[in-house]
Amino acid sequence: MLKNLKPLFFENSFVPKLLSKFAPIRINAVSFFIFVFGRDKLTEMTKTHETIHFQQQLELLFVGQWILYVYYYLRNRLKVNSAMAYYLNPFELEAYAGQATENYLETRKRYAWWKFRKQYKTGGHSKKPKK
Ligand SMILES: [Zn+2]
Repeated sequence: MLKNLKPLFFENSFVPKLLSKFAPIRINAVSFFIFVFGRDKLTEMTKTHETIHFQQQLELLFVGQWILYVYYYLRNRLKVNSAMAYYLNPFELEAYAGQATENYLETRKRYAWWKFRKQYKTGGHSKKPKK
């Protein structure tokens, strides 16, 4: 079954180090297509986090996730700094919540990231003038 598929893990990779030069955060590991590149040895928690990203990509035929990932980042970036724009991405919100949940990958529903879009509301504050 597709939900049991795991990406291919590569440890001690130069890829996270290289990407960190361009990213708003220090990248420890990155999931891209069927590969996960780790800066050092990957912990189980990081493997879970990156496997969640792999599953997100799988269900959006890879390219769809890449486009939406950038879209959500840019949408957040209009409101918050670059590090927060990364953390508030629904794909990241799901991965961080899931990595801390036991057996998350076994019980994960398809498109589980969808409900994390609403966790962060931009521009939701009222425009009522202060008295
Ligand atoms: Zn992530």
